[in-house]
Amino acid sequence: MVKEIDPEQTVNFIKFLGTSGARFVMIRQLRHSGGLWINCGGTNVLIDPGPGSLVYCAKSRPKLDPSKLDAIILTHRHLDHSGDINVMIEAMTEGGFKKKGIVFCPEDALSGDPVILRYIRDFPEKIEIIKADQKYKAGNFVFESSQRHIHPVETYGLKFSVNGKTVGLLTDTRNFVQLARFYSTDILIAGVVFPESRPGIDHFSLEDLKALLPSVKPAKTILTHFGMAMLKANPRLCAQNLSRELNLEVIAATDGMVLQL
Ligand SMILES: [Zn+2]
Ligand SMILES: [Zn+2]
Repeated sequence: MVKEIDPEQTVNFIKFLGTSGARFVMIRQLRHSGGLWINCGGTNVLIDPGPGSLVYCAKSRPKLDPSKLDAIILTHRHLDHSGDINVMIEAMTEGGFKKKGIVFCPEDALSGDPVILRYIRDFPEKIEIIKADQKYKAGNFVFESSQRHIHPVETYGLKFSVNGKTVGLLTDTRNFVQLARFYSTDILIAGVVFPESRPGIDHFSLEDLKALLPSVKPAKTILTHFGMAMLKANPRLCAQNLSRELNLEVIAATDGMVLQL
């Protein structure tokens, strides 16, 4: 008998249902791609449910029950972030029979070549469009969107508080100077796809993070969203080296890791 997380008992945590970044680590599932499950004062939010999110919720110990979700947020429509978005909306709403929860996503997740299927759009209580520099709320979870990131599709980073600690989620982007202002948080979760920046590719790297951290100085930085080159470089060692060089706490996320806040 698997014990389920009782939202009354276990509150204020972030669980990494996946730490893969970009295509090949996701396709080969060298790291999982389930997104982040956040509990904020009893409100449950899932961010970026990539492929396998539903399976990793069910396999999670203690189990995470998607019908307990209050919101699902997409930072952008790329598959490694949105692969399971439809099934997670269906799971949140108990197969569409219980109209509940809010879905937050950029406009291009719904238009053109949409990742959120039309027949599923009536299932949640509402769908809210994420725009730049706005504040949103679902239950106890309040978050701010960043300015638009530099990435091939409409992408926003997020900032929120859990139990009085501010958390930044620096999702896919090319490095740009304004990132430092938005991501000045107690805890910074940074997607680092490559060890070194690659000119012409709109992704954030460990090298970019190294340049950003001295002006942001988070109490804790968590590396995630690893591409192949990052896995080869060993994220745990990279985190240790960065930590030593900058005299800041830096750790590498692992699949299933829980951060209690
Ligand atoms: Zn990505
Ligand atoms: Zn992306």
